[in-house]
Amino acid sequence: MNHDPSQPVRIVVAGGGTAGWMAAAALSRTLGRTASVTLVESDMIGTVGVGESTIPPLVNYLRLLNIPEADFMRATHATFKLGIQFDNWRAPGEGYFHSFGATGKDHWSAGFQHFWMEGKARGHDAPYDDYCLELLAAREGRFAHLPDNRVNYAFQLDATAFARFLRGIAESEGTQRIEGKISHVDLDGDSGDMAAITLESGKRIEGDLFIDCTGFRALLIGQAMHVGYDDWTHYLPCDSAIAVQTGSVRAPVPYTRAMAHDAGWQWRIPLQHRVGNGIVYCSRYLDHDAAEERLLGNIEGETTTKTNRLRFQTGARRKQWHKNCVAVGLSSGFMEPLESTSIHLIQRAILRVIRMLPAGGKVSTRDIDEFNAQQFQDMEQIRDFLILHYKATERDDSPFWNYCRTMEIPDTLDHKIELFRETGRVFRNNEELFAENSWAQVMMGQGIMPQSHHPVAGKLSDGELDHLLRGLRESVAKTVAGLPPHGEYVARYCRAQ
Ligand code: FAD
Repeated sequence: MNHDPSQPVRIVVAGGGTAGWMAAAALSRTLGRTASVTLVESDMIGTVGVGESTIPPLVNYLRLLNIPEADFMRATHATFKLGIQFDNWRAPGEGYFHSFGATGKDHWSAGFQHFWMEGKARGHDAPYDDYCLELLAAREGRFAHLPDNRVNYAFQLDATAFARFLRGIAESEGTQRIEGKISHVDLDGDSGDMAAITLESGKRIEGDLFIDCTGFRALLIGQAMHVGYDDWTHYLPCDSAIAVQTGSVRAPVPYTRAMAHDAGWQWRIPLQHRVGNGIVYCSRYLDHDAAEERLLGNIEGETTTKTNRLRFQTGARRKQWHKNCVAVGLSSGFMEPLESTSIHLIQRAILRVIRMLPAGGKVSTRDIDEFNAQQFQDMEQIRDFLILHYKATERDDSPFWNYCRTMEIPDTLDHKIELFRETGRVFRNNEELFAENSWAQVMMGQGIMPQSHHPVAGKLSDGELDHLLRGLRESVAKTVAGLPPHGEYVARYCRAQ
């Protein structure tokens, strides 16, 4: 990218799914007149149409863009989300919760799990879950905003409505939307930079910076620039999904469900007016028709859409930013939605692009290298966390689980698991998305119990430990008892704000 700094940076966003419109809204609202943003999308091609469960950083995206939360919730029929209920992952019939927020109270030298284990050793039998506000609130189907942002939450939303809502914001900030199918991408012969995209209509759109949000097609970064793709299927073997929507048959719960089956898992995401359902599976072990039958046999309520079959290749684009082209969204890579991380990766990429926009008209290759290193590290850390759910299992009831249980895993994950098993410790590296409590909840939920814990917990007398544990539990239980039912709160919040 090399442009005249006295002129606005011409940013071309190719694609208008969640990634394209999240990018256009953030770029146009943040950069104002210093950038001109053009977005091209094709109604004929459409969007992937899924992506409805999110994680708490999305709250920050809304705040950064000054988007009133209730407006967003009304427009996207959103509910609040406090975590994910995992069923049948450790073993059929067993479940656990991965919630947002903290469990208990950490000491600077040791996470709360060390104090809980000390308590266990001294006869306290309350489960780890009882110390987490978000987890208990989710289980009881309660929610409210609390002072000082004491509740950590995200949203479950309608993906199509979300893109439409963001389009309104982006257009109000000056983003120009062009409908049409991209048929050709021009590269500059000398620099190899992207110069323009051409539509089937013949219209040519030039730019200084191109954001590839064309989904799995990766028209710019993949097809035109030939940036390669690291395949991670050997770690995360699911390669297919089928989605379908159903009408609601009960008040929405403030959590997503991830129910494992013998060749993958199934999601259930409750919105205000309907439920998003889908099955994720490995086509080596389950054929598509059998998967569809299984999905339709395990839904509540009537279907309101046709089934939507999707194929994917788990992995990451080797360079997320190459020359003057940045891949955002599915074009940059994909990992199954087990921990709802894709929209978050979109958000991180966009905010990084904004941080690294050049002051003097020429982007530094050091910025590009930094962007790629940071984005790739995020993806590898998320990848490891997802693999944990498959690797740390006792399931031996199907060839799929036998593969997962015995597969090789990255050294980074092996180290994390063995460290936790030996010492109960988890270290969070370089702004890693998942904090110590997330790892502890999932490791213990999957059956990895630490063999020892930090001696600092042993310093407490019986009375002190009892006081600490009981106080934390009582405080959580009292707060949760005071929260309204989630469905009622959502309706009231969307009406009142
Ligand atoms: P798309 O939605 O595919 O958009 C691509 C855009 O490019 C479209 O506008 C299309 O018209 C345009 N386009 C393509 N080719 C051309 C062309 N030639 N000319 C013009 N325009 C073109 N994420 C989460 O965070 N949470 C979840 O719960 C979750 N669940 C998922 C479940 C599944 C099964 C899958 C596959 C993904 C899930 N995701 C989830 C990921 C999430 O759906 C995506 O990250 C998100 O929707 C962004 O997609 P996108 O905008 O990159 O691509």
